[in-house]
Amino acid sequence: MAAIDGLPPLREVIRDHELVAKKSLGQNFLLDLNLTAKIARSAGDLTGHDVLEVGPGPGGLTRGLLAEGARKVLAVEKDARCLPALAEIAAHYPGRLEVINGDALEVDVRAHLTPPIRIAANLPYNVGTELLVRWLTPKEWPPFWESLTLMFQKEVAERIVAKPGSNHYGRLALLAQWRCEAKIVMILPPEAFTPAPKVHSAVVHLRALPEPRFPADPKVLERVVAAGFNQRRKMLRASLKGIHPQIESLLEEAAIAPTERAERVSLEQFCHLARLVAAARS
Ligand code: SAM
Repeated sequence: MAAIDGLPPLREVIRDHELVAKKSLGQNFLLDLNLTAKIARSAGDLTGHDVLEVGPGPGGLTRGLLAEGARKVLAVEKDARCLPALAEIAAHYPGRLEVINGDALEVDVRAHLTPPIRIAANLPYNVGTELLVRWLTPKEWPPFWESLTLMFQKEVAERIVAKPGSNHYGRLALLAQWRCEAKIVMILPPEAFTPAPKVHSAVVHLRALPEPRFPADPKVLERVVAAGFNQRRKMLRASLKGIHPQIESLLEEAAIAPTERAERVSLEQFCHLARLVAAARS
């Protein structure tokens, strides 16, 4: 039976192109086109947007993004075995799908895309986290993308949206929430994928804010946050000792008790402290 977009069902695509999943490439495919369309919808209105998709595989999410009206999809896939399947999708949507065979950590995609851009991906988790950190730390803000819609292990997704006081709260939450609105929009059981991974997954949607939520120098903020969470069980007066010789008085000035632990300090307080540290140094 043909799928809703007139292309063959993904099980057939995988069988015909012999796309046996490779563990080394983190291949856990989504085969339900209703689900991939739902994920594409969670990326927001795609009409009038170019979309960067990383790791399209056999193209389930790619088809969702195109069916939901993306102006153009640029898909970067490392596994050359997927190219014939992706070429069939490109032929079905003339001029709207460009595929680059390469490593998303190395390919420079900017020249292939016209703003406004959204990014969507179901990626191996290690690559996903590295790309997320890169997308969140560009040289200039606002970045070249408007939103990121990314599948992660549920535990990683929880680290991105965590609030102070939670065990998941740390560097990733602060980095993401400083410059974005971040929320979990979908949770998927292992059976949603073929082959099924060991853990649940979640889709996180991050919308870039026009400017960071609170002013702070990105490098100073990152140093303070990293030092605080490297020894998260320690009191801040100890874990931040290397940041500034007068750290206790700077903490007090930022209304943070020097005996407090990093996991209870809000983003606003970290930004305030980073500003005081920067001023005390200059
Ligand atoms: N998007 C497809 C789906 O949802 O069914 C495939 C998802 S699968 C979890 C991850 C995909 O990312 C695979 O197709 C894999 O080959 C690809 N991939 C892995 N590492 C990559 C990298 N560094 N750059 C680009 N693609 C990569």
